[in-house]
Amino acid sequence: MYYNSTRTKEIRITASEAILQGLSGDGGLFVPEYIPKLEKSLEELSKLSYRETAYEVMKLFLDDFTEEELKYCITNAYDEKFDTPEIAPLVYADGAYYLELFHGKTIAFKDMALSILPYLMTTAAKKNRIKEEIVILTATSGDTGKAALAGFADVKGTRIMVFYPKDGVSPVQKLQMVTQTGDNTSVIGVDGNFDDCQTGVKKLFNDEAFKEELMASGFRFSSANSINIGRLVPQIVYYVYAYCTLLKEEKLPSGGEIDVCVPTGNFGNILAAYYAKRMGLPIRKLICASNENKVLFDFFQTGDYNKNREFILTSSPSMDILISSNLERLIYHIAGNDPERTAGLMKQLSENGEYLIDEKMRSGLSDFEAGYATEEQTAAEIRRVYEDTGYVIDPHTAVASSVVKELREAGALSDLPVVIASTASPFKFARSVMKAAGAGEEEKSDEALVRELASAGGLAVPAAVEELWKAEIRHKKNISIPEMKETVRVFLKEK
Ligand SMILES: *Cc1c(COP(=O)(O)O)cnc(C)c1O
Repeated sequence: MYYNSTRTKEIRITASEAILQGLSGDGGLFVPEYIPKLEKSLEELSKLSYRETAYEVMKLFLDDFTEEELKYCITNAYDEKFDTPEIAPLVYADGAYYLELFHGKTIAFKDMALSILPYLMTTAAKKNRIKEEIVILTATSGDTGKAALAGFADVKGTRIMVFYPKDGVSPVQKLQMVTQTGDNTSVIGVDGNFDDCQTGVKKLFNDEAFKEELMASGFRFSSANSINIGRLVPQIVYYVYAYCTLLKEEKLPSGGEIDVCVPTGNFGNILAAYYAKRMGLPIRKLICASNENKVLFDFFQTGDYNKNREFILTSSPSMDILISSNLERLIYHIAGNDPERTAGLMKQLSENGEYLIDEKMRSGLSDFEAGYATEEQTAAEIRRVYEDTGYVIDPHTAVASSVVKELREAGALSDLPVVIASTASPFKFARSVMKAAGAGEEEKSDEALVRELASAGGLAVPAAVEELWKAEIRHKKNISIPEMKETVRVFLKEK
């Protein structure tokens, strides 16, 4: 299996090289040359543990890793860091199956991939005889940053630097990041929104002179953002696992289809579901759920991707995104794996903030359904699910849940089981959740709200949150966008 770039024909590299590079030198993303089919039957797969399923899926994409290497990565990633042996449990509530992807170290779904990425990357470095220290540069809308920090902290041969929008993340998200330990970590608040941070990081990645300068000092960049195929591939696993769990529990007939709804920001999670479908998993519709930053919803309705609009800060900050990076991979596939076409559209996006796809490409989107939820709908959905079932969901999950409810009411979904990707623990967004539940949260501290949430939901406060109140603040630096490059330079010279 080789990987091509979405923007240039000539590029063809192995999986381990693609993981090390993160982003292609031409600004494109790496895509697999073909989508492999699952080798084992779904019945056979439904007898496997999460780790075993991970191996069956990942080996097809990362075929230059030996069995021993890949199993080493999987075993070390999906261990007691997760607070349940199922790793990704499926919870039934109110007519839908919530696939809980938040049982890792930082209680958001990013842990599913970022627990394994450091292992994949250091293994890839060894395989490719890389001498330089790997520098992970990451832009985050809140959850990636912490999950990447937790994954890479104190990993030998790596350093990690995280840029977050200083007013665009939840209090718990911020506290999680600024208290990060590990001598190889740096966390920087940026005066700007997530797209500014992401664009800034991409610029550094494409700055050849800067890369050479760092190479001379023994450093090479890589990315832990969801553009890295080392993030994407591990995310396919839990869709296969969820389907097989339904099969095992006889909630599905053999070969029966499901719908999948994913609260979407950078389009990584739902793209993994799309790959799962193309591998042969019987998914009928991939439902893309947006918050009020509904660029993707509009795109699926009209074929017009237009980021020229107001950026709205919502209660689901990890989805406050106007440039969904991973959509480029889908664009490439629906263009018939055409890099020239894709490069042309991406050029329009960077120059005009907009592109329009033609009818032929639009027909490639028939696997998708889209919807969005306003802030009021999101809050109402948290309240409704809690009042009807006692199950507490976070605002991101609520966006997806609300979209499913609306599509159902509109008759757009059949009676198939719906799997909703539940992407964060409600504890990570306790203030929004308690506000939605009408708890009168204004006067209360975050800690008090977390305790109230625990008692309302009959839940234990996750260790990841409990630790926060006592932890020392280690990262205090705030910068403006143009200072990013110099900040990287300084951090790398420091130690
Ligand atoms: C990152 C994130 C999302 C969006 O996922 P994408 O892969 O970027 O589409 C949704 N919810 C939560 C909680 C997240 O952390």
